[in-house]
Amino acid sequence: MKTILVAGGAGYIGSHMSALLTEKGYEVVVVDNLCTGHWQAVKGGAKLRVGDLRDGAFLDRVFSEFPIDGVINFAAFSLVGESVADPLKYYGNNVSGSVSMLTAMKNHGVENIVFSSTAATYGEPEKQPIEETDRTEPSNPYGASKLAIEGLLKWSGRAYGIRYAALRYFNAAGANPEVEIGEDHYPETHLIPIVLQCALGKRDHVGIFGDDYPTADGTCVRDYIHVRDLVSAHLLALEYLDRGGESGAFNLGSGDGYSVKEIIETARRVTGKPISAVTEPRRAGDPSVLIASNKKAREVLGWTPERGLEKIISDAWAWHSGHPNGYEG
Ligand code: UDP
Repeated sequence: MKTILVAGGAGYIGSHMSALLTEKGYEVVVVDNLCTGHWQAVKGGAKLRVGDLRDGAFLDRVFSEFPIDGVINFAAFSLVGESVADPLKYYGNNVSGSVSMLTAMKNHGVENIVFSSTAATYGEPEKQPIEETDRTEPSNPYGASKLAIEGLLKWSGRAYGIRYAALRYFNAAGANPEVEIGEDHYPETHLIPIVLQCALGKRDHVGIFGDDYPTADGTCVRDYIHVRDLVSAHLLALEYLDRGGESGAFNLGSGDGYSVKEIIETARRVTGKPISAVTEPRRAGDPSVLIASNKKAREVLGWTPERGLEKIISDAWAWHSGHPNGYEG
């Protein structure tokens, strides 16, 4: 049986990863400092060790305690606006955490790492859909910190034989109501949970950040990918590295784009609630359209996203309506 270390495994995407690995028979060791993660999201079967990735002695202990075969690293700060206001916090945590993780891997002879990267590494896209070979010019420190880590992975590959898949996420959404895990951020900034908080009556409206973009209905278009499809790709990436696959970056998106208005309309239909929406000014730094080409992940990893927008929103709704206060109740 293989043992996988999931850093940030108490967070939104990491907890879905741990649940999938456990279901597939892997031993799972979650490392999380619980600063944004929730211990309740670490379900039975996975072992939790609370500590910070930047603490090399802590990581050393974890790597000595368990026979780690591979690492999946989700641990990071990920709020774009906050990263603009406080770049040191983002470079400091995200880059230093990865330096520390790679050091532990090198010292303990662990070769394979699957890393959470982001579509924010591209910045303003050159074209749609976005391919992995397109220009990467992040427009905020969050994306820049992730791109810096991709560089670090590449050089660590050359110097130490570390093998990696950097997975560039588009818009992760949805939940796994069967395992009772879902999105629980504070503050919440993402569109789908905000829309569902309106359906729950926890907010009185959702602000539409700009309706004068050059898109069909004037609102921004994004590529929403179900978190369960997202984590399936991580498992495929791990298996791919295990059989000697070449290191590199992979986009993880559905390949379909939906506008902010389409998301709100779908949420009204799925929840049966009248969700009120008000047009507000544009949010700084929002590109009008971000859609992934997922050709490389399909062809190289054998990945097929299976869950569309209705399923994303209905799973998220099952989670939010069953846990209106997130993990607190
Ligand atoms: N958005 C919005 N109102 C909100 C939150 C988000 O109109 O309250 C828009 C945002 O401008 C973007 C899309 O919804 O076009 C998705 O935003 P989100 O923050 O969920 O993800 P991002 O694309 O920034 O990673």
